[in-house]
Amino acid sequence: MASGHASVNYMGVVVMGYSLCVPSRAGDELAQEKLTQYRAMRDFDVTAEPAGGSPAAGGGHFVVQRHRARRLHYDFRLEVDGVLASWAVPRGPSLDPGQRRLAVRAEDHPLGYFAFEGVIPAHEYGGGDVIVWDWGTYRASDDTPDAAQAVDAGEFKFELEGEKLHGAFVLVRTAGFGRYRARPDGSRAKWLLIHRRDDDAVPGWDAEDEPYSVKSGRTNDEVATRRRGRRTARPL
Ligand code: MN
Repeated sequence: MASGHASVNYMGVVVMGYSLCVPSRAGDELAQEKLTQYRAMRDFDVTAEPAGGSPAAGGGHFVVQRHRARRLHYDFRLEVDGVLASWAVPRGPSLDPGQRRLAVRAEDHPLGYFAFEGVIPAHEYGGGDVIVWDWGTYRASDDTPDAAQAVDAGEFKFELEGEKLHGAFVLVRTAGFGRYRARPDGSRAKWLLIHRRDDDAVPGWDAEDEPYSVKSGRTNDEVATRRRGRRTARPL
């Protein structure tokens, strides 16, 4: 872990007939490359958003941030290949399998974004307030065991273990509709986020009924006005 990033991979290499296990820079470089667009879109002297960083060890994290920017949306992020693969979900995730929620692919975010909660200055990209609406871990389903490969292929099945979100979900890329076209890097592609039918499914469940941060107990309003929340957040 020379770099402090959680994304360093290890691979066996053979040198002079000896098999060694050395840290590979390849995984970390891939993550840095994936963050080029994220960094280009932001001025880190102005925004409090992180340029990099990593969440707790162990991998397989997910986070959902409720973000009141020009338009309210929820940012759904899965830790994949050393970055947070991200989708903007206008109406938020639902535990109701009848709700097929639009999820627009966004630029990969650094792992340090996992716990980001705060105010993005009004004139910056994404200006508005952000709370950590839910967080936890995910497990790839047996159908799609390799998250990176599945996301590239446009269909990923996984189970969430969060504070609010539980159970089996699928993210599936659509052929596209509406006025935005996907960019060559895949951003702005339209996906659907759907809870699969299982014991954790809750018909009628709506994200807007659960407005508190799992990190601080605050609402977006309380973050925006820098007020202390009245509720006690549960530790991850
Ligand atoms: Mn956002």
